[in-house]
Amino acid sequence: MGKLIIFSAPSGAGKSTIVNYLLSRNLNLQFSISATSRPPRGVEKHGAEYYFLSPEEFRQKIANGEFLEYEEVYTDKFYGTLKTEVERILNSSGNVIFDVDVVGGCNIKKYYGDKALSIFIEPPSVGELRCRLEKRGTDSPEVIEARIAKAEHEMAFAPRFDVVIHNDDLEEAKAKALKAVTDFLEK
Ligand code: ADP
Ligand code: 5GP
Repeated sequence: MGKLIIFSAPSGAGKSTIVNYLLSRNLNLQFSISATSRPPRGVEKHGAEYYFLSPEEFRQKIANGEFLEYEEVYTDKFYGTLKTEVERILNSSGNVIFDVDVVGGCNIKKYYGDKALSIFIEPPSVGELRCRLEKRGTDSPEVIEARIAKAEHEMAFAPRFDVVIHNDDLEEAKAKALKAVTDFLEK
């Protein structure tokens, strides 16, 4: 069976950048495409970054027991991992890589135990997160505020993860992530 790599962090810490870097390496990793009820941002496409669902469709899937885990990460914005998505990747002998919030990350780690490596990406400060989100330019000021408001609480989850990577210098953080994942997959 393949292994599972979980990335969590406050929004803007650099998870997607690091996850995309790892996906470009030859590690037999496949991205677990989550479902969400938030609208697509920028060039995001249904079935690539996320499965974009209406709030009604999302609730129906909760009622049907289709999620391995799900969270209301921001008010009225649901995100969840579909069981079928993880099964699809594991059945194809791939290793699964997740980009999920801190609570979802802890839940997936608890569920899979030693088969999973959980990695927390730590930003230099909450102020730096704000700068990165503003520079990224994909979210409205209100959305950025909601993300910043949650960041302090999310930072407190770091000690629950197997590995914490400080993302100040991006190249250094990418190298540390690559080493942690390679070592774990070779174990
Ligand atoms: P997340 O997926 O955690 O929300 P992203 O990967 O989208 O975060 O990164 C947020 C923004 O910060 C992006 O524009 C990205 O290019 C930038 N970024 C990531 N890491 C660094 C870093 N070490 N220094 C400066 N900017 C960074
Ligand atoms: P974004 O809107 O920036 O794409 O994601 C917002 C937050 O939701 C991020 O912390 C991201 O990791 C998290 N997230 C994405 N997919 C899932 C999921 O399937 N489950 C959980 N619990 N969180 C998710």
